[in-house]
Amino acid sequence: MPVHDRSSFENLYAGQPRWEIGRPQRAILDVADRITGSVLDAGCGTGENALFFASRGQTVTGIDFLADPITRAKRKTAERGLTATFLVRNALALREWKDVFDSAIDSGLFHVFSDDDQRRYVEGLASALKPGGRLFLLCVSDAEPGDQGPRRVSRNELEDTFAEGWVIESVEPSRYEVRPDPHDRSFREGGPKAWFAVVRSTGAGVTTSNENR
Ligand code: SAH
Repeated sequence: MPVHDRSSFENLYAGQPRWEIGRPQRAILDVADRITGSVLDAGCGTGENALFFASRGQTVTGIDFLADPITRAKRKTAERGLTATFLVRNALALREWKDVFDSAIDSGLFHVFSDDDQRRYVEGLASALKPGGRLFLLCVSDAEPGDQGPRRVSRNELEDTFAEGWVIESVEPSRYEVRPDPHDRSFREGGPKAWFAVVRSTGAGVTTSNENR
């Protein structure tokens, strides 16, 4: 099962990653009005999704575990005259954070994690979101054939991972938009099939997590 580690992401950023489309993902734009208040963008890459919300005047923090995309995101912020915070941080260590957000975006991060890391990540997200805060998650789905790119996530896996401490508001078929690549035809027009999930934190998981620290 392809799980991307740090060095594979470093290699991808040395070239032109397929997900670098130079604009926000359509699935995120479609629900933009629901992504309210302060926004955490986990695994933000070079920040197109985060910067869209910054351009709407929202307080935005993007995190990525690689310095290279974070540097590029900061450069775009300055070039566009926007205000946003971009930090080199491991999304698996969100529980160690004190900051809490109204909303969170995950565009293409969840699907890189192993089962164990997905659970750890989601626990961290619960503590990084205010109770009632929503996560908007776009991940490649098991409807996408082949094994090129990230792992495929099933609806059941999403339901299991968000079973405790979350209310699943919706899980809809979507697309993860990617750049066309004439040398790699693994994804059809429009990008790999994806799930777009909206999940709300009840805040219930957070107390337990903190007690277990
Ligand atoms: N959200 C962006 C990038 C998606 S690619 C977009 O949709 O365009 C996934 C991103 O997650 C990469 O930038 C990768 O460097 C980052 N990433 C992978 N594992 C991570 C981790 N443990 N913590 C933080 N970022 C991580």
